[in-house]
Formats: sequence, structure tokens, C-alpha cells
Amino acid sequence: MPSKPTSPEAARGISRRSFCQSTAAIAALTVGALPLASVQAQTRVIGAASITTFSDGLMTVPTEMLFDAKANPSLKPLLDQSGMGEGQAKRPLNITLVDIGDRRILFDAGSGPNFLPGLGELPNELDAAGIALDSITDVVFTHAHPDHIWGVIDDFDELAMPEAQFYMPDREWDFWDSDDALAAMPAGREAFAVGAKTRFDAMRDQVAMIAYGDEIIPGIEVVDSRGHTPGHAAFAVHTGDQAVMVVGDALTHPLISFQHPDAENKSDMNTAEAAASRARLLDRLVSDDMMLIGYHLPAPGFGRVERQGNAYHYLQQ
Ligand SMILES: [Zn+2]
Repeated sequence: MPSKPTSPEAARGISRRSFCQSTAAIAALTVGALPLASVQAQTRVIGAASITTFSDGLMTVPTEMLFDAKANPSLKPLLDQSGMGEGQAKRPLNITLVDIGDRRILFDAGSGPNFLPGLGELPNELDAAGIALDSITDVVFTHAHPDHIWGVIDDFDELAMPEAQFYMPDREWDFWDSDDALAAMPAGREAFAVGAKTRFDAMRDQVAMIAYGDEIIPGIEVVDSRGHTPGHAAFAVHTGDQAVMVVGDALTHPLISFQHPDAENKSDMNTAEAAASRARLLDRLVSDDMMLIGYHLPAPGFGRVERQGNAYHYLQQ
């Protein structure tokens, strides 16, 4: 069993970090002043936070692994409109970095060098933006799928962000750390379970278990969005009078997730729970007038939601 510190704040005392470095970085992370070599990275200043998304690459998957347009013909025009109608879906991987106060918080760690060719670009993208991996103070995980967690270790199986405190939703850790995970994987996905455990082992001494509703870092709230995986979490980043929701894989398609939030997404482990989570998140995003960042939404992943009758409309920002 992992150690389960009762307070993540206490737990993070185990890693040292340079406040001076962090403060200088915040000064550099102003829109227009950031020396971005990368065309992908996009920075927004939202309240007290400077928020940048980085691309970990572009993942191509068969459309039928995500949506079944035969069973649900109303999805077909939306798949066509989003370029997924020909059988292949190109999915961006948008990784969020938040600089706020003395913290530099990464949401998910990308795919790393061993998942799929063309992915694992995060370290290069950070380097191009002048951001050192050891300047990252916190890494917060939405869930333990390969494109979100495998990048926590590098080519040498060492922690890629050695100074960081890691945070994993407790329900997510318990599922992937048990033998249930391997048994629950469909044929061909066994590596998801084995790979998650390898990463858990690497971060075991540096990870805090977090629960829905917790404030894990000042201003960072854990939001229940279970369904895609058993312990999937979204994160509300409160930045003064504004807030941004990092939604992970709870909202993944710019049309279907919003216009048909009930529609089955075959990448969700629990269809009913995932649909219920989408409904809750969408309602809150509109009610609280929050911007969102989607891991697989069109790059750079920033958007807003409008209510439209009984459904919603996504506005890329
Ligand atoms: Zn994903």
C-alpha cells in the first residue's frame, strides 16, 4: 500500500523547491513576454494565474473506438464535421501548466517515451519554452491512462519531474493499484494496467492521495468526474475572482460531449457515470461562468460553454 498522508500540504514538504526560480518564472510567463520557441504552447493570464497548455503530440485512434455512429446515427454528422467521419480520429493532447503564487503545477504528465510514436513531446515543449522539469513543484493527475501518466518517468525509468509532489485521486489509485485493473482491461489493453503500476511504483514515496472536494493546493479543488475511469477527477483552479476547470477526459469531443452529453463514449469505463459527470460539469461550467481546458479538445484546449436548450455548445477560445 502507498503511504497516504492525511495532508497533501504536509506531504509536499518532502521536496525542496526554489522560490526565487519560481517567482522569476511567473514574471516571464506574461502574455507576449514569454519567449516561446514552440508554436503549440499558449499562455493565458487568468486572475492571479498564468496558465499555459503544451502539446504532448497528436494521437490517432480508430473513430469506432470512441463513438458508435451505427448505433447512434445522430452522431454521424458531428463526426463528419469534426473530421472523424472517415474512420480515424486525431486527438490532441493538451497538458496544462499553472503558475500561481510560488507554485508551478502541471496537470497530467503526458505519454512519455514508451507509449506511442509521435507522443511524449511534453519535455521538448517545456524545454522550448525555457521551463525546467525540476522547476515543477506539483504534478496533479486526472487519471492513470497511459497518455496522462506514463510521462511521469523518463527513458531511464527515473521520475521526469524529480522535485515535484504528486497527487492522485484516491479512488483512481486504489483501482489501478489492485489486481482488479488487469482483470478489467479489454484484450489488448493489458499494458494500461501494467504501465500504471510501474508509474505508481516510481512515484510511491512522493504521491499524496486526494479526494473529491479536497482543496489540495490553495485554490485547487478536486471535482468528481468519475466514469471515464473509476477515480477520474477534474480540477477547478480558483484564481481570485475567476476560475478555470481542467476537465481531463471528462469532456473530449468539441461537438458530441456538449451537444449529446448522454451519448456513449466507448473510451469511458463506466458509461452511465461518465454521462452523469458530464452533466454535472457542464451545468457548473455554465452556472459558474468558468473557462475550461480539455486534454483532447482541439488545441490549445481552452474553451467556454453555453447552454443551448437541453444541451450545450462549446466555444473554443
Ligand atoms: Zn486521454
